[in-house]
Formats: sequence, C-alpha cells, structure tokens
Amino acid sequence: MAIERTLSILKPDATKRNLTGKINAVFEDAGLRIVAQKRIQLTEAQAKAFYAVHAERPFYGSLVASMIAEPVVVQVLQGENAVAHHRDVMGATNPAQAAEGTVRKLYAESIEANSVHGSDSLENAKNEIAFFFAETEILA
Ligand code: GDP
Ligand code: MG
Repeated sequence: MAIERTLSILKPDATKRNLTGKINAVFEDAGLRIVAQKRIQLTEAQAKAFYAVHAERPFYGSLVASMIAEPVVVQVLQGENAVAHHRDVMGATNPAQAAEGTVRKLYAESIEANSVHGSDSLENAKNEIAFFFAETEILA
C-alpha cells in the first residue's frame, strides 16, 4: 500500500466541545500521522468554496453556516492508504450508521454536526490540501 496524504477537518461542533485532542488521539492510534495542523476561522466564502460540490443539495446553506459557527482545525494526515483509512476511522456520514469505535460514532452530534471531514479520493485530497496549506507547512 502506498503512503498517502489526506485533508482532515475537525469541525465546529468538535472544537466547541474541546474534542480536538481526543479526536487526534483516535487518528494517531490508527496510525495516521498529523504532518500539518492549524486552527482557523473559515470565512463564509471559504466554506462555500470548499463545499461547492454540494451547492445544489438542500442542506448546503445550513452546512456552510455550521462550518463557520466556530473555529475549525484543518490538518494533513499521512499514512498507508491514508485517504480510505481515514474515512474508515471517521465512520459513516450519519452517526446513526457509524460503526463502533469510529470518530463519528464516538462524538458526532448529528448527520450535519458530525465532527470531522475527510477527503474522499486521492485527487480530492491533493486539491483540498492545497486549499489550506502551502507545501512548506507540511512536515512529515
Ligand atoms: P462526508 O464525506 O461523509 O463528510 O459526507 P458528504 O460529502 O456527503 O457531505 C458533506 C457534509 O455535509 C457531511 O459531512 C455533513 O456535515 C453534511 N451533510 C451530509 N448529508 C447531510 C444531510 O442529509 N443533512 C444535513 N443537514 N447535512 C448533511
Ligand atoms: Mg464528502
């Protein structure tokens, strides 16, 4: 398996509840290495652009509002098969369907306030990493 990088976001519901350390521990225990990380306040324009793929979905406005309600932690995770592995560790989008031990099963409040984002393909990971980080900020 190849070493990959993926873009992870600890969402406002997680930062608000002071869960960044607990969620990072789940990632690290699963073999994912945090090779870049920063706490930022997303602007509405950034949140809209980041989730542009969902612009036609009925929950888009609510999703964008939820993403700017509190700061987020954006991070680059590195490891074997990191994109798919991170998705497994996050669990299903809807916490009601998330497997035991996943971040969303442990911590998500709802299908929208579901604590974490993770890139869903290697190509999207590259674009999403570049959305938030310069190469010089990523230190393996
Ligand atoms: P993800 O890749 O598992 O994060 O899920 P998606 O890419 O399908 O959706 C992006 C984000 O939109 C999710 O993580 C949720 O925060 C939110 N979302 C997805 N589906 C719904 C929904 O049916 N209702 C609401 N309110 N939010 C949703
Ligand atoms: Mg997605």
